[in-house]
Amino acid sequence: MPITEDPERLARVAGELGAAVREARPGVRVRLPVIQPADAAGLVMVLHAQLDEAIEERSREAAADGLHIACSAGCSSCCVSPLLVTEGEAVTVAEWLKLDANKAIRQQFFAAYPAWKRGIGDSAAALERARTDEERREAAMLFKRRAVMCAFNRDGLCTIYAPRPARCRRALALDTNAACGPDGDGVVKYFEHPRTEMTFEEQETMRAALHHALKPNGDLEMLCSAVQRLLGASISRNEPCPCGSGQKYKKCCAV
Ligand SMILES: [Zn+2]
Repeated sequence: MPITEDPERLARVAGELGAAVREARPGVRVRLPVIQPADAAGLVMVLHAQLDEAIEERSREAAADGLHIACSAGCSSCCVSPLLVTEGEAVTVAEWLKLDANKAIRQQFFAAYPAWKRGIGDSAAALERARTDEERREAAMLFKRRAVMCAFNRDGLCTIYAPRPARCRRALALDTNAACGPDGDGVVKYFEHPRTEMTFEEQETMRAALHHALKPNGDLEMLCSAVQRLLGASISRNEPCPCGSGQKYKKCCAV
């Protein structure tokens, strides 16, 4: 059971995590609870469901206001954007991919990963190193210009739509997707929806707490790299690489 659904268990885990976060104050080292990947994934799916409710309301309000939302199935313009995620979100995708029902998607990801990794080159490292907003913005634009499609995008559709990270859910372009893709300036016109923004921002605390509980002192990481690392942990280094290259895992995607 890689994703916990038991509401009582999830409530208990969320309570422990919340209590640890509330103790946080300058100079005090917070001791975060040990969280199992299945529980982390269950919690993140609850956060995603909350965010989706707000987003559905946003869509209804935008429609009622006569606004045209450019985002739709088949548009992958924002899937070339760099996607740094918290560890809880990456664990959620990895646990979901471990389900037997998603074996084909897991294999497609492994097969797509080496080209994605080659394509992004050193642009992910530059983004992870960026410290100021200006540095981050510049590194993100350079990343996007490479036009490397997310390794989870297949024929224009997201293969991990159900467990996709919060930032992918929140994305919304009004009128046009021209600013979203590799040639766009990234300044996307946005429909300001208070409940969606508040839900997203409030959830950031929980996502950050989960991140630090699962990966103490670790930086955010590209979704594809983090999921490859998490899934790869259960592959022996001498096994054939799941990407299908015919090489041993240690000589291929593990490095
Ligand atoms: Zn490989």
